[in-house]
Amino acid sequence: MRDFVVVGAGPAGSRFARGAAERGHDVLVLEQGEVGRPLACSGHVSLDIWEYVPDEARDDLFQNAIHGARFHLGGADSPAHPFYRDEPISNAIDRVGLDKTLAQAAADAGADVRDHHTVTTVEEHRESVTVTARGPDGLERFESRLVVGADGPRSRVREQCGLPEPDEFLHGVLGFDPEPDHQEFVDVHLTVPTFFAWRIPRGDAGVEYGLAVRPGDDAKARFSALLDDYDADLCERCSGLIPVGPPKRVTGKRSLLVGDAAAQTKPFTGGGILYGMRAADHATRVVDPARPETVGDYEDAWRSELRTEQRLGHLVRAGYSFPESLQELGMRAFSGKIGVHMDEPSTLFSREQLKALLSWG
Ligand SMILES: Cc1cc2nc3c(=O)[nH]c(=O)nc-3n(C[C@H](O)[C@H](O)[C@H](O)COP(=O)(O)OP(=O)(O)OC[C@H]3O[C@@H](n4cnc5c(N)ncnc54)[C@H](O)[C@@H]3O)c2cc1C
Repeated sequence: MRDFVVVGAGPAGSRFARGAAERGHDVLVLEQGEVGRPLACSGHVSLDIWEYVPDEARDDLFQNAIHGARFHLGGADSPAHPFYRDEPISNAIDRVGLDKTLAQAAADAGADVRDHHTVTTVEEHRESVTVTARGPDGLERFESRLVVGADGPRSRVREQCGLPEPDEFLHGVLGFDPEPDHQEFVDVHLTVPTFFAWRIPRGDAGVEYGLAVRPGDDAKARFSALLDDYDADLCERCSGLIPVGPPKRVTGKRSLLVGDAAAQTKPFTGGGILYGMRAADHATRVVDPARPETVGDYEDAWRSELRTEQRLGHLVRAGYSFPESLQELGMRAFSGKIGVHMDEPSTLFSREQLKALLSWG
């Protein structure tokens, strides 16, 4: 019997698998397709990402250094309110390459990573879990002490284990214009309901355009309008769901969810790569497969790390729906040099940030 079957080799699943294998556990990872594909993510991350990947992968994954964001209340030609730092705040990275790198790190640590295995059912028993997957040779059954659902926003493990759904799903769309762009600013447009549209310069990899809205808010038409506005010529498009607002419970008798399956995302950007990996680290630290009740310690640990940031993230997002006059005032007051960490909205309310605000007068 395995110690853990991990469903999904995205950032959260591979991070968990690596950590658990390093602790000497017997770990099997099942990924439904090719690792990293299909792409449905901007790969715009804080510099913390480099703590999670081997040093030698850095040059291959890096695409562009971002120093700040230009906020707009209108389209491409509307006035820009820049927020920035002298040094880089974030990087655009090769997201497909990231997934492959993290899965390889898990395999190097001893995890058995199998792609082209789609998990169809999960049965929690008293002494074990049975995970059934459709692979190249037909249906296969795997016995494990615990199952880890790292299978993204529409988690099969969550559904099979009867765990509750996240509060909300946003529909994200994005596309790439191959024209190289090495600018240091992303553009953020508060022109779609309850969220935003974006433009990310990705160095030699081109420019990315994207937006996210609630289902029913016509992502397709709004995306066409954004592309027309910028006169963008796309070579590739994709879309995906962004879960926002974690369910009340992300653990069962012999199951736990990590990453998007548990809605471990930033409510004000939809980003989940780093939150999911931070939560996965808590899981590997506290969950003992021989003592399934330790999943409760994971439930406490990840919430105490991310709860405040997620609550503040909701507050920041509420600002996207303020009346335009209020947004204009806020932009004028706050734009300029900032001291914030993009994964930690609490830094918006920090003493350093306050000092910086006062010093600009
Ligand atoms: C448009 C868009 C833009 C985004 N931009 C950013 C960004 O710039 N920065 C950021 O931090 N986050 C961003 N995100 C969010 C980010 O993509 C997710 O938070 C992140 O991918 C979550 O990682 P994960 O490992 O939990 O899930 P995923 O990356 O979704 O990985 C889940 C894996 O499970 C596999 N899987 C699913 N079902 C099964 C099954 N039944 N059997 C086997 N395998 C299965 C999938 O194939 C997938 O490989 C964006 C999301 C969207 C939609």
